[in-house]
Amino acid sequence: MSGQHHPEPESYAAIRARAIESLLVEKGLIASDAVDARVQAYEQDIGPLNGARVVAHAWVDPEYRTRLLENGTEAIAEFGYTGAQGAEIVVLGNTPDIQNVVVCTLCSCYPWPVLGLPPTWYKSHAYRARVVIEPRAVLKEFGLELDDVVEVRVWDSNSDIRYMVLPERPSGTEGMTEDQLMALVSRDSMIGVAKAKSPAQVG
Ligand code: FE
Repeated sequence: MSGQHHPEPESYAAIRARAIESLLVEKGLIASDAVDARVQAYEQDIGPLNGARVVAHAWVDPEYRTRLLENGTEAIAEFGYTGAQGAEIVVLGNTPDIQNVVVCTLCSCYPWPVLGLPPTWYKSHAYRARVVIEPRAVLKEFGLELDDVVEVRVWDSNSDIRYMVLPERPSGTEGMTEDQLMALVSRDSMIGVAKAKSPAQVG
């Protein structure tokens, strides 16, 4: 696997999935938008829920937070989240002074066990090329404007290491339960292109 961003079985699976999809669409059994909607659900909702659970737990349990930052893979495996594209996950803790941002400049390496499938923009050439050169400008396009004093650290994923960002716990969340906190943890906040949501944002 080393030196190879996407192991063989995965590309085989991707080809197979595409073949099945086109066959089903051709036979009139499913609509292509139904497939897109399902993929989108995995990108935006189902996949990132695992990561949100990990983050919310780290927010309420300082010892877990320490374990998570010291050995992400093991701490994440405590929840049973392991498997493809998750052999080594390094968790990067954001602070008021440091904003970590994740990219794969070569292709689209991504921590599947915690975040699900990567969104389309993550795989785009524009994001991969630009976030390294002008991270602040890219973050601004995502709606994240950072003070000049905040240091932006961009982490390039590869076949051996996948990164996940541990966003800061928003203020005004002291009385919230772990389940309530989970709702504040967006996929984008775990890639580092957004902050966790405030309680007001989720209503
Ligand atoms: Fe990659």
